[in-house]
Amino acid sequence: MPYDLNLSNAAFSPMVPNGPLVIISPHLDDAVFSCGSLLSHSAGSTVVTVFTGVPHEGGILTEWDRECGFLSAAEAMRAREAEDCRALEAIRCCGRSLGFIDCQYLEHPDHAMPALMESLLSTVIDLAPGRVGIPLGLFHGDHLRVSEAALRVRQLLPDIAWFFYEDAPYRAHSGVVQARLVQLYGRGMVLTPACGQADLGSKEVAIAAYASQLKAFNGVPDDLRRPERYWHIEADVQVPSHALPEGC
Ligand SMILES: [Zn+2]
Repeated sequence: MPYDLNLSNAAFSPMVPNGPLVIISPHLDDAVFSCGSLLSHSAGSTVVTVFTGVPHEGGILTEWDRECGFLSAAEAMRAREAEDCRALEAIRCCGRSLGFIDCQYLEHPDHAMPALMESLLSTVIDLAPGRVGIPLGLFHGDHLRVSEAALRVRQLLPDIAWFFYEDAPYRAHSGVVQARLVQLYGRGMVLTPACGQADLGSKEVAIAAYASQLKAFNGVPDDLRRPERYWHIEADVQVPSHALPEGC
């Protein structure tokens, strides 16, 4: 007996325009690292970056910022914003900053979640996109917070085509993509892989703009040059009981 392949959603691609494209980026580099190729082929798109705020305490210096060559958090954030401007210019995209504080500077980063959800909601409504890419939420606490906040916003704006992007370079850690997909599947979320753009376009030029972050990474992580991967978020339905065809 032939399998029912049920390919009804195979046509979804983040490349197919159905209104403006918006990518939600936790930090000042994630959208380009993970979706730079897609953005490069979608000129005029908007990158909404969540954690762009400058901490009040000027004397803070985290281990990461030190490895990036900075002397304070304030210096780091100002330099990173300038790097991001140059990167987005290279791929002809616009940036919007939400001004939240990076968790590396906070004791209780979860306290900002209600404000983060509210800010994301009003920003997405204002931008009126047709497609919104959000981080799968891998490895890093800020990435997970943005992913979860965006999923809540998605529930309020179901007419937009929402998709996950795999957070580069964290997706290269063993098992992290698999673990997150299993978790989301367990919550009843149905995801289908979607095709990205094979050609890197101006992504390499944009990546090079993040000199401070590449310094701490000891160069461009190999994963940033690998194909971008996306997951179309379908309606939240119960996980089908026939997940595996009989007789496999
Ligand atoms: Zn990040």
